[in-house]
Amino acid sequence: MSEQTVRTPESVQKEIRNRRHKAELPLFVINSIIGPVFLCIAGIVLFGEYGIVDLIKEGLENAEITETSPEFSAFLIGFIAVFASIGAIGFVCYLIILSLIEYYKGYASNMAYGIRVSEENFPEIYAKVKEFSKLLGFKKEPEVYVEQMNGTINAYASWVPGKDYVHLNAEVIELLYLEHKDLDTISFIMGHEFGHLYYKHTKLHYNFFANLANIIPIFGQKFMGPLLQRAREYSVDRVAQVLTDDKCGAETMMFISAGRHVYKYVNVDNYMSYVNKDKNFIEKFARFVTNLTASHPINPLRTKAILDPTHKSGRLF
Ligand SMILES: [Zn+2]
Repeated sequence: MSEQTVRTPESVQKEIRNRRHKAELPLFVINSIIGPVFLCIAGIVLFGEYGIVDLIKEGLENAEITETSPEFSAFLIGFIAVFASIGAIGFVCYLIILSLIEYYKGYASNMAYGIRVSEENFPEIYAKVKEFSKLLGFKKEPEVYVEQMNGTINAYASWVPGKDYVHLNAEVIELLYLEHKDLDTISFIMGHEFGHLYYKHTKLHYNFFANLANIIPIFGQKFMGPLLQRAREYSVDRVAQVLTDDKCGAETMMFISAGRHVYKYVNVDNYMSYVNKDKNFIEKFARFVTNLTASHPINPLRTKAILDPTHKSGRLF
């Protein structure tokens, strides 16, 4: 008899939290802080003693322009400071409004072009929506939409105020209706997306703070942002593993790699033996560089983490 029957929402959520990537929360905090810190340093460079504004002031005074009396200089600096503060607040409001518009555009697109999963449409998938929502303690079931995307294999979770939803490309749910009749792999993908909802990765406030690192050109945008994203992906792969009772994770990775018809013919052990074998410098470097700026850990690293029986945090580099 399976032990699956004794699972409760509390036990499932406890296990999920235990398996969260250990770097995810520290990276979230770091990413929230480094952007504002960068702005402060930039402010000191601009407005601090011997800062750029100071140097300009000095230059104006040296040029003996009559208007640059000490009172005028103080007024000028005060004016710039007030103008910069109003500009900064205005810019944050602008970003929030812009983000909300993007969130609503995404939702509108699902309502316009997708098919909502319900008891009548794709009932097997709707049963998973109910099951996962219950296990994860969601007060409200997320809406799930299916849409064909011209052969692209993908899924995502998102949010608009008061509503969570999941988008499944039809190319994913076809697994259930094509030759393999495979609900387990779809469940893993859904579990992954429900994991993003569970950890609130989709919410505006989460993304506002997580994306503050993007203020820093290159380092924040290309390195720290993707680093947090990769930790997040490992965390939600673990959610999917718990929800699906550790079934089908590696097979899902083969589906993502090989596509919906041939993934069942991939030998995972052979795939991993190739990935794990002694690599030369070029291979190591190629994987390292590809992974370094990727929003998702590269497939061999994800598969390796999924197969790890100890469920330790996956490799970020
Ligand atoms: Zn994801």
